[in-house]
Amino acid sequence: MMVEVLKKEELLDRISQKCKSCSLCPLHGGRIQAVFGEGNPDAILMFVGEGPGADEDRLGRPFVGKAGQLFDRILASVGISRSEVYITNVVKCRPPNNRVPTTEEMSACRPFLDAQIAIINPRIIVTLGSTSTKALLPSAGSITKVRGRWFDWRGGIRVFPMFHPSFLLRNPAFTPGSPKSLTWEDIKEVSRVYKKLKEDAEGR
Ligand code: URA
Repeated sequence: MMVEVLKKEELLDRISQKCKSCSLCPLHGGRIQAVFGEGNPDAILMFVGEGPGADEDRLGRPFVGKAGQLFDRILASVGISRSEVYITNVVKCRPPNNRVPTTEEMSACRPFLDAQIAIINPRIIVTLGSTSTKALLPSAGSITKVRGRWFDWRGGIRVFPMFHPSFLLRNPAFTPGSPKSLTWEDIKEVSRVYKKLKEDAEGR
């Protein structure tokens, strides 16, 4: 019997093709294209947002609009590049008017996220905002309460909720205790743990 051994990249590519033609929930009817996710297939660090917005739907890439530009600045503040991490969303098709995806839409799309996590097998997942936090940590509580804290997920992956960049765009004050300043603290914590894991993995 021939057993086909696929690299992570090839596996992700095959699932991405399935995602692009998926019609399992009503969101497929309004999309220009599905936004599967992108980044390093061997990433130690993965980010999960809510769902594509208009720019993402148009360009087929996650976090490339205004929220994405802020997300890039958050990463850059601790010297992390987009190409070293993996970035995706709970739902892969844009909800109309950027509304929060329904439970049914999230459930229909969930196998794609679960497959991405299983293949990439990151050590850290940062959930951005309340939707992805609830998707991975259904009983954890509100984002305001849980952001900036580490959670053990399915015994092995550390999950760290942070505010969603879109929320920060609506709350731009950078004053002590503001969402934006808390986020700049949170990414420092993510970076601290991530860089330690990376050093350990490189055997330093
Ligand atoms: N907001 C998200 O949650 N994801 C994106 O990809 C863009 C904006």
